[in-house]
Amino acid sequence: MRITGVETIILRLPEVAPNGDGLQDVLIVKVHTDSGIVGIGEAHTMPLALEAIIHAPVSQSASQGLAAIIVGEDPLEVERLWDLMWARTAVLGRRGLAIHAMSAIDIALWDIAGKALGVPVHQLLGGARRHSVTAYASDLMADDPDSLIENAQRFVARGFRAVKFGWGGLGADPKRDGAVLDRLRGAVGDDVALMLDLGNPVGYDTALEYAHAGHAAGIAFLEEPLSADDLDGYARLVRASPVPIATGEKETTRFSFIDLMDRGGLRIVQPDLARAGGITEARRIWAAAETRGVRVIPHSWASDILIAATLHFLASIREAPYLEYNVMDNPLRKRLLSSPISPGSDGTVAVPTAPGLGVELDEETVERYRWRPA
Ligand code: MG
Repeated sequence: MRITGVETIILRLPEVAPNGDGLQDVLIVKVHTDSGIVGIGEAHTMPLALEAIIHAPVSQSASQGLAAIIVGEDPLEVERLWDLMWARTAVLGRRGLAIHAMSAIDIALWDIAGKALGVPVHQLLGGARRHSVTAYASDLMADDPDSLIENAQRFVARGFRAVKFGWGGLGADPKRDGAVLDRLRGAVGDDVALMLDLGNPVGYDTALEYAHAGHAAGIAFLEEPLSADDLDGYARLVRASPVPIATGEKETTRFSFIDLMDRGGLRIVQPDLARAGGITEARRIWAAAETRGVRVIPHSWASDILIAATLHFLASIREAPYLEYNVMDNPLRKRLLSSPISPGSDGTVAVPTAPGLGVELDEETVERYRWRPA
């Protein structure tokens, strides 16, 4: 079997606001093969820039478009192709956008491999250690505390046993947000895990205030309080904080995650499979994390393609406390697949069992939100 082409599709909502919702547009990749098998992947930043990285003509040996690198290759040689794409984009890539684009292709290659062999991706990753994962409802922070609490209660009534709020106005006032957290805890009871995601970095002292406010409300972790570049700040904060600190959704490759763990002291890392380097690189990040006893709780605020890839990954690793499940009312979130992935009444999400990622696009939704530059 050989790769014959890489098709890119940009989907975009009619209105896109500069808020914390990262699923207002998305890049979907279809990797085509001469056997007729098509693999599907997703990358999760600035789709037009990713398209250029995929379709660009050769510039020099270590600056090549990703499609030209893999066309003609055997799609089953997934890890070798990851390393080939890495080497041939070393000038423009190694971190950031090029790795985001590689993530989509890597996910699609795993999808092809599973479909070609007639097995779900998790079987190729060493087998399922679990068949469902506890989902946490992940939502943006509402400005009004009453609606925030109503939202949380709605998620709990749907069966979620864990809820995270993030971004919005968080970060401006730890005392105000701490009081909201206390009300939230009172409203959902002690059995529901709560997490807080600042999204945008705050200063060290403010971060520590949030950690103490979160501790009073019994949060499971405080996410992204500092800039991902502030490794020394993280090292101090992890030592001083009464609650676990988590970060990593904006990072790419094992090298950045090893820095977060070894220099930043992080004990929870959150690679996004549609950014950090796909399933292949997530496995390498997990290997480094497991060696250090660090928990991997992936970021997965994107479409059901990423949710499926994340579920196969989580099925295969030793400890998988949570799947991030974006609960926003968004057609790219809810209607991209012919059978959308959703949690059961027990708050867990089943790992797909059909060959490959086990997902099929709803082509009507794809056509409705397909975007082309004017
Ligand atoms: Mg986050």
